[in-house]
Amino acid sequence: MTVENGSEKPQISVPKIKFTKLFINGQFVDSISGNTFETIDPRTEEVIANIAEGDKEDVDLAVRAAREAFDSGPWPRLPGCERRRIMLKFADLIDENVEELAALDTLDAGKLHILGKTLEVPSAAETIRYYAGAADKIHGSTLKMSRELQGYTLREPIGVVGHIIPWNFPSQMFAMKVGPALAAGCTVVVKPAEQTPLSALYYAHLAKLAGIPNGVLNVVTGYGHTAGAAISSHMDIDKVSFTGSTEVGRLIMQAAATSNLKPVTLELGGKSPIIIFNDADVDKVADLALQGTLFNKGEICVAGSRVFVQEGIYDKFLAKLSEKVKSWVVGDPFDPNVHQGPQADKKQYDKILSFIELGKKEGATLLTGGKACDMKGYYIEPTIFTDVADDMTIAKEEIFGPVMSVLKFKTVEEVIKRANATKYGLAAGVMTNDLNIANTVSRSIRAGVIWINCYFAFDKDLPYGGYKMSGFGRDSGMESLNSYLQVKSVAMPIYNSPWL
Ligand code: NAD
Repeated sequence: MTVENGSEKPQISVPKIKFTKLFINGQFVDSISGNTFETIDPRTEEVIANIAEGDKEDVDLAVRAAREAFDSGPWPRLPGCERRRIMLKFADLIDENVEELAALDTLDAGKLHILGKTLEVPSAAETIRYYAGAADKIHGSTLKMSRELQGYTLREPIGVVGHIIPWNFPSQMFAMKVGPALAAGCTVVVKPAEQTPLSALYYAHLAKLAGIPNGVLNVVTGYGHTAGAAISSHMDIDKVSFTGSTEVGRLIMQAAATSNLKPVTLELGGKSPIIIFNDADVDKVADLALQGTLFNKGEICVAGSRVFVQEGIYDKFLAKLSEKVKSWVVGDPFDPNVHQGPQADKKQYDKILSFIELGKKEGATLLTGGKACDMKGYYIEPTIFTDVADDMTIAKEEIFGPVMSVLKFKTVEEVIKRANATKYGLAAGVMTNDLNIANTVSRSIRAGVIWINCYFAFDKDLPYGGYKMSGFGRDSGMESLNSYLQVKSVAMPIYNSPWL
């Protein structure tokens, strides 16, 4: 690992922060209490801006605006092609502001700016386009019923949606949640994570410029236990879609159950295995495993943080891994030569370091890393543990940081059992050229996404979500659009029917 500690830093143009207030009914407004909270730059540990702190009363206002827009506004009643036109404009505006949006996420979350502007923000625009294209293709079916009846189904928007999103992919999460809901004709109240409010407010501004009517898209910045809880327990919100921790997912489900029984989609934590078989190309899988664990500083719910390696390739794999990690650069996320920026916030930083200490205490061997970087900001060395046993904390708990656990295995049957021995079931990687093994393992792993000879192979069209305690419901693809629609069945007698 190399630490880029600022000796020859590139010129960084940090954007001026333009939007810091709640976005309700098409206007930027202060919170009713007048309170604000600080959003912190994880590179410097300094305050970037003070952001309006929305609470229950502000959520009420936003929901009222969204309700009004849904019940009597144009959005759900527009022909799909008109919603499509406006959403395409929204996507174009995102593309036009890609540099600034990516910079806001870098400032807020320590994400690599180069990846923000070439990958995440363009992908957010593409996601909006994907769902724009679906907005005029939403239809039910006609049914020939028994007893001289004919029937048809309508697929109608579910209503007002609450989106509670995390800090690790602020732009992609925003688009992934809001895109299908808007295409379906829903109206939304978004609560971004308190660590990353900046880009969500910018997206709201662009949505307005694109012509999305007032009240259709609202953003309430604030904390989870106040603004987030007000959304999940709100009697006038018809659905909640959440991405974040399993603990908070449970709270959201409880709040939904004890309020108006609103349906919820939960995309939660993971402890995904990457399974490497003897016949895999060592060089290629070492790269995949490194990226699979360290990408976005490990702050990704599908991180392949349990790397199972078959015994015949184990030593070669470790040698390759230690060679490759030497050129992994940690430093300022605005620097295009850097691979890993700071963790998103102090809480996350402390949590990861305490997991690393536990790994050492419980007897795992450090191949590399194992501590914080000696520099200002929430930087942690890319850390690889070997000799990891299945019952060690680092092999069981989601760390959400740049920490890989390498585990050795012998047989296909054994690794299937061990890979499945987790409460989570979000994703898995299978690295082999043996078709039989690839098929057997991918069908046997209880997880929502399986990547064979690749990792993080996302696509707008590929549904994404968890099994077991990784949640339920799907983001992405038409599966996600369907979750914002409900089916109405209509039946009527036909000519000469005894019903007439
Ligand atoms: P979190 O679950 O606490 O936060 C996610 C979102 O939920 C934020 O917008 C937050 O404000 C909101 N929230 C928090 N408490 C709430 C409540 N009581 N009611 C309603 N909303 C609430 O996640 P975190 O604290 O930011 O991170 C903790 C852990 O969650 C991480 O270490 C990681 O394991 C996991 N995580 C997973 C993902 C993912 O993509 N699956 C993303 C972020 C975090």
